[in-house]
Amino acid sequence: MSWSKRDQSILWHPYTQMKTADAPLTIIRAKGCTLFTETGQTLLDGISSWWVNLHGHSHPEITHRVSEQLANLEHVLFAGFTHPPAIELAERLLKTLPANQTHVFYSDNGSTSVEIALKMALQFWTNRGVHKKVRIVALEGGYHGDTFGAMSVSGRSAFAAPFEPYLFPVDRISAPLQGEEQRSIEALQKLLSTGTVAIFIFEPLVQGAGGMRFLSAEALSLQVALCRRHEVLTVADEVMTGFFRTGKFWASDSLTEKPDLFCIAKGLSGGVTPLAMTTCTDAIFEAFRSDDRSKALFHGHSFTANPVGCAAGLASLALLESTECQSRIQVLSGSQKAFSLQMREEFPLLQNPRALGTLFATEFPATESGYLDPLGPKLYRHFLEKGVLLRPLGNTVYLMPPYCVTAEEIERFYDAIRSAARHFGKKP
Ligand SMILES: *Cc1c(COP(=O)(O)O)cnc(C)c1O
Repeated sequence: MSWSKRDQSILWHPYTQMKTADAPLTIIRAKGCTLFTETGQTLLDGISSWWVNLHGHSHPEITHRVSEQLANLEHVLFAGFTHPPAIELAERLLKTLPANQTHVFYSDNGSTSVEIALKMALQFWTNRGVHKKVRIVALEGGYHGDTFGAMSVSGRSAFAAPFEPYLFPVDRISAPLQGEEQRSIEALQKLLSTGTVAIFIFEPLVQGAGGMRFLSAEALSLQVALCRRHEVLTVADEVMTGFFRTGKFWASDSLTEKPDLFCIAKGLSGGVTPLAMTTCTDAIFEAFRSDDRSKALFHGHSFTANPVGCAAGLASLALLESTECQSRIQVLSGSQKAFSLQMREEFPLLQNPRALGTLFATEFPATESGYLDPLGPKLYRHFLEKGVLLRPLGNTVYLMPPYCVTAEEIERFYDAIRSAARHFGKKP
């Protein structure tokens, strides 16, 4: 029996309607941007395997560091114990973050990094004996993960509909998209004036899974400043936007006001192992330090700060900071910008072709709104036939390749998107 038949008899895949989805493709190995299937077919990975892979697959320097770590110390619990890779990675990561970030709490995926940020921020207030700050403000169209807390603060969509009654209440305001800045700022102001808001959580600059929606840096900066004035903790969910996706190391580097907490995952290990962190300010950390043991943060995961993941993270950071990678990021950003302008000219029916840093996105003429637009799977298949992996979010097509992508590979992605635009870029 083929791998994919064996898979289909027992496995259940994420975000997949198992009845109607095509059989999964079996990947035997991967190198750089290329995935090799069992039948010898190749596919170019244009979405960094769900936004995690920064330097291409099976990068020799990461592989080397990881195998060394595996041979030395594969895992040790992180309560009462520590190890050099966790310390080094936290030290190096803090150097890249705004100076107000002083402490790191490890976990193992983006959703849990968000849960931890929410728990830190809520308990910050109760540890200080403040009981009136209870509300959480989030942006419409946001995505923060699939666990219950993360679903609660995400925008309402088909993803969370069956669980609606079990999600905790959140005040959702419109996102500061272009033209909506004032509405978003005023909505936040109104909520802040109640004095009951504890947290404001947002994805800085780009709402990822919500459809690669670009947000105004000025408006977000103003909103963070307003929160500071009202003593409300701000959480930047940088799970997707970190590691130069938006051109700067962190999307928050484009804000003039710095958030109190950061959620970091996806690219943190270079896409090699699950790894995440939540970072916070001194004031937040200090609110948990006490002679009273009940004021500790009672949260942890079996694989907290796994040494192999941390070693991968260190290797990935070293690559990221190399001049070679930095110049590739510059080149990729330039191509994305130029391509978005070309698409505007060539295909007037595509909506809002746009680029920010290494990201490109555009909407195809929709048949239905949202993630379940049937156009999505059709586009996906069209791209596969062209030998590229691009996985649209509803009618939003985006390109977020690993930074090792070559000029020739970038052109293959662009050709595939142009071909899709000729097929599907018509009035529905
Ligand atoms: C993907 C994502 C998450 C969830 O991360 P997982 O590792 O999939 O749990 C949270 N926030 C943002 C902004 C994301 O893009």
